[in-house]
Amino acid sequence: MLMKHTPEAVAERTALSINPAKTCMPIGAMYAALGVHACLPHSHGSQGCCAYHRSMLTRHVREPVMAATSSFTEGSSVFGGQANLLAAIENIFTIYNPQVIGVHTTCLSETIGDDLNQIIIKAQDDGKIPEGKYVFHANTPSYVGSHVTGFARMTKAMVDYYAEHDGTRNETINLIPGWVEPSDIRELKRLVAEMMLECITFPDQSDVFDTPQTGKMNMYPKGGVTVPLIKAAGNSEATIGLGPTASGLATEALEAKCKVPGQLLELPIGLRATDRFIAALRHFNGRYVPDSIIDERGRVLDIITDMHQYFHGKRVALFGDPDQLVAMTEFLVDLDMVPIYIITGTPGKNFDERISAVLGDLADQVIFKQGFGADQFYLHQLIKNDRPDLLIGTTHGKYIARDEDLPFLRFGFPIIDRCGHTYFPTVGYRGAMRLLEKMLDLFLDRKDRDAPEEKFELVL
Ligand code: SF4
Repeated sequence: MLMKHTPEAVAERTALSINPAKTCMPIGAMYAALGVHACLPHSHGSQGCCAYHRSMLTRHVREPVMAATSSFTEGSSVFGGQANLLAAIENIFTIYNPQVIGVHTTCLSETIGDDLNQIIIKAQDDGKIPEGKYVFHANTPSYVGSHVTGFARMTKAMVDYYAEHDGTRNETINLIPGWVEPSDIRELKRLVAEMMLECITFPDQSDVFDTPQTGKMNMYPKGGVTVPLIKAAGNSEATIGLGPTASGLATEALEAKCKVPGQLLELPIGLRATDRFIAALRHFNGRYVPDSIIDERGRVLDIITDMHQYFHGKRVALFGDPDQLVAMTEFLVDLDMVPIYIITGTPGKNFDERISAVLGDLADQVIFKQGFGADQFYLHQLIKNDRPDLLIGTTHGKYIARDEDLPFLRFGFPIIDRCGHTYFPTVGYRGAMRLLEKMLDLFLDRKDRDAPEEKFELVL
């Protein structure tokens, strides 16, 4: 019983989070920056922060994650980190030769109040940024947000720094995929291509973290959106942003800066959300949906029909990031499952509205909470009072699952005790099939495990 000290009685807390259902803001900024081609993320703070951000991402994607740091010491903590960042920019371009440096702040540099905008302009003026190379930044004070808001800010920074409208419009669609796995981005781009549309995808971590094994180390893999493509995004016909928490800022910024009409959708996880994504694309291609996609959808429906008897009425507790939770909750409701607890540490007022919208009539019976106090300790207390049939969340949930003997579906970020997940999408119709199979296996494995010998069946 690793979590045996969690009491059943829920007491009001005003100043303490225990096992938060979120992680550090710069981690998201780093993940977003790595979706730019040949970008080296740079952490403007102390070495420990950078080591933590890199290690979390490395453990999740099972690939080496490169990043530089301003390596703050006591001196920079007192006098500011400008000298460190200027030296770092020069050294990084000289030694590691990236195309782009994506700088994010940390709690320390934010508390000091370093003005990154001014420092980057000074680096440019001092000739520390070579011709044709780029440096951009996002402010990511971790005490006001989460890894998802850090991701959103860095994605918006791409628009703020580079998107341009030259007065023309073309038929390209901008796709801002949100915080998803490289495999998800590959799947989203496949769906867009099947719909006969051209898209600019940013950030794009496909072919960055899922490159083939060749035996050779390549510091800058072929994937990632290029800066010229982000510039060109200002001339696109429209933007589709997936996941309002992760993609909302960039979608809105592109509309405000370059007048590209933006449409925000929930992540296309599950049947209905994918239908909406396809419907949004259909608007731009003359209302054409190829047979291949109609067939994929039909297969998902067929699988749901076969599996429905096992899912119906199953009660589920979920924790993780808002965009994933809203989409997954809608999918569970469509399967006639019953979400009972939904917890995210990422603060955001619109979470309650979005969750209520997908829960519909069920909303009154579900406990959902965001921001302060919405942590895994609270979730564990709820579970102790009324057990669900399934727990869905990140790797951190394994302790609750073990103590309470719950089937556990790993979903979201981080997943650091399993590997392979970054290669299989959970978005789109194909992703829905995978989620369905994974959930059903959990229920039926449990049934097999718990069945008395006389009821242990070959066919379930
Ligand atoms: S100090 Fe702030 S930026 Fe650094 S690891 Fe901790 S939460 Fe993240």
